[in-house]
Amino acid sequence: MDQNTTEKKGRDDFETTVINIVKTQAAYICSNPDCRKLTIAPSLTDENKVQYMGKVAHITAASPGGPRYDSSYSEAERTNINNAIFLCSNCADLIDKNKGIDYKKEVLFDWKTQHKNWVLENLNKSKTDTSAIAVSSYGQRGGIIAQVVNITSNTENQRDPIKEHDIENFRLSEKVLNNEQWVKLREDLLGDASCRKFDSDRLDNVLTHFSRAENGFIDEEINEAKENFIATIPALKDIIDCHFDLWPYQQDIENYSIQLKPHYLRHNGYVNPTMEQRREWEELFEQMKVNINALNDTYNIFRKTIKRKLHI
Ligand SMILES: [Zn+2]
Repeated sequence: MDQNTTEKKGRDDFETTVINIVKTQAAYICSNPDCRKLTIAPSLTDENKVQYMGKVAHITAASPGGPRYDSSYSEAERTNINNAIFLCSNCADLIDKNKGIDYKKEVLFDWKTQHKNWVLENLNKSKTDTSAIAVSSYGQRGGIIAQVVNITSNTENQRDPIKEHDIENFRLSEKVLNNEQWVKLREDLLGDASCRKFDSDRLDNVLTHFSRAENGFIDEEINEAKENFIATIPALKDIIDCHFDLWPYQQDIENYSIQLKPHYLRHNGYVNPTMEQRREWEELFEQMKVNINALNDTYNIFRKTIKRKLHI
């Protein structure tokens, strides 16, 4: 951890000792008062490991151009514990969006103070104390999916946080690729082996979405269906990435059309393809159909499993 200080030139990173004090003082709970997620739990698969999704973030950035960077700070002030705040990885990303314009340093200093008081208030409170916090843990499956543990007050225990988490995660994944978008991409590809680049990029976005630790499903059956679905994406993406290119060549750069090469197999009169070229193209097109159908099956099973288990 502390190799950061020597490797990243020009960045005023925190010393490991500072990082350790900040996270333990925050009780490993996110300092955003609207979040307060517990960020650490034992691994369910390895008794020597933990699942951890916390971050010690800079209130004013470690280097020029970063979120809330303040040039009036000295290096010592920037690396001081006073400039550090403990957050869950979600909130740490959130506060730095758009160079931190929505989360001013005053807000973060306020979160830090509130959190300190909140942790102190809850210190040594027992389970039977009605004002104490109740900690409920979500289940977890698989080694790469760090799930979130929520802190909820005793007064609102009617909710089903597991279901809520999975519904929310499904909604977020639908923003990346929904059924309508997939059907369109599928029809485009099966139609004349072409599609919009933007539409095919959605497949990558799904992989990125589900590669994030917090975007796993808690329900084991849904998570398994999701794993099967995303496992069928790379084969199709490989064909699009390696064997498609811009056609026609002069297009808007915004959302251009790409097509399985060589294009003259779809556009008569350009060049006469040899038998070998034609066979190669046909083989790739056939392979792509196989990959599309495999992806279509796993995606439909994933969606059906979600509908059945979450009743949505
Ligand atoms: Zn948080």
